[in-house]
Amino acid sequence: MLRRSSSFSRERAALPFFVLLLFGIPAPLAVRGRASDGSSSAAFDVLHYNAQIEPGIASRTVKGKVLIRFVSQTNDLATVGFDCGELTIETVRENGAPQQFSTRERRCNIALSRPAQLGETREIEIAYHGEPRRGIRFFPDQAQVYTVFATSQWLVCVDAPDDKATLSLNVILPTNLTAVANGRLVSKRELPDKRVAHRWEQNTPIPTYIFGFAAGPFRTVTEKKGRVEFRYLATHFSEDELRRIFHDTADMLEFYEDRAGVRYAGATYTQVLAAGNTEQEMSGFTALHEPYGKQVLANGRDLWLGAHEFSHQWWGNMVTCRDWNHFWLNEGMANFMTAAYIEHRFGRAEYLREIESYRANYEKVRQAGKDKALVFPDWLHPTAEDRRLVYDKGAYVLHLLREELGEQAFWKGMRSYTRAYFGKSVVTADLQAAMEQASGKSLQGFFSRWVYLTE
Ligand SMILES: [Zn+2]
Repeated sequence: MLRRSSSFSRERAALPFFVLLLFGIPAPLAVRGRASDGSSSAAFDVLHYNAQIEPGIASRTVKGKVLIRFVSQTNDLATVGFDCGELTIETVRENGAPQQFSTRERRCNIALSRPAQLGETREIEIAYHGEPRRGIRFFPDQAQVYTVFATSQWLVCVDAPDDKATLSLNVILPTNLTAVANGRLVSKRELPDKRVAHRWEQNTPIPTYIFGFAAGPFRTVTEKKGRVEFRYLATHFSEDELRRIFHDTADMLEFYEDRAGVRYAGATYTQVLAAGNTEQEMSGFTALHEPYGKQVLANGRDLWLGAHEFSHQWWGNMVTCRDWNHFWLNEGMANFMTAAYIEHRFGRAEYLREIESYRANYEKVRQAGKDKALVFPDWLHPTAEDRRLVYDKGAYVLHLLREELGEQAFWKGMRSYTRAYFGKSVVTADLQAAMEQASGKSLQGFFSRWVYLTE
């Protein structure tokens, strides 16, 4: 997700918080798969979403339906709740039969046809439409549309990071557009009225917040390097420019795979230079703003943002914070890994320059008396300072941990943490335990001082 470094983003970092809100900040989100009465924090687990979305680019609307397959984690589960943003629910069906539902506070609560028992798998089909103001951005002048945080604004789902699921996504678009989404494109089917249905299959379970798609009249450049095909999509850049802008992607992949001890999960990685001000990682692709492309063309070293977003394909997308209170494990980690990549690519001095900028940002928050623990009690209404802590203090603390443990133990711990939790959810204690295991040292003092602020 978003951060700084380009002049574009630096300006944005200074925007008032209410403006930042418009760009889609992790907002209060549902507790995973709870029953609609909130009686259980994990009443059910979604296994699969089979969705069809038709965005109206000119009308800034979405029309969709989604079949949600879930397994009950309790006995006598009578109602289920899903996040639905500001979408209007038209019908809810189970096995074709209409079900009672109500919507309240951006959730759709559904009465099941009969209570589900522990371990029982059920399917609910929801049809909906809306004019989302967040979660999806429309650019009628440029015929572009893409998704951003958060998914429940365009797809009814459990919008909590620890309920990972597979996805079959069918997006209906005008014939002249090029599109990318999660997983593998399996079919394109022509429809009446100059429309095409694109279907992607995402077969590895992923958190719903990295579900998404982007479409526009993009030029596509592909480069196969090793096992992975890299794709670059943009409207306002030539093929040669796109190759230059994304020249280092293969090197980043190799570096992150080495530091993670885990291979990149997909067969393709797509970077889109899109209209507007996006900096959004999704599974298998990233949407970046066009000024990023211009910035890298002007200075080949200014690839901070591309490196940050790509690192999320390991830390964030695959090793995912269990809930937003541990968000620093996604974003502090991505900022730190970006600095580590910059060190690999441009040397130690450049790494230290990045770390110093994180430290300075953290210091400003601390001086203002707004320092906090990196694990939040309740990430409901984060301030701009809270976000600086998660992104910049988080990265700085990982740097300090690296200094504390030394190269060998730190990277050994990082690899075992990433391997152990790849495809799973993490809390801060998991990172601490992996680092303690790798170093044979208690890190209680370090974590108390820097992470929990209890010392
Ligand atoms: Zn990020």
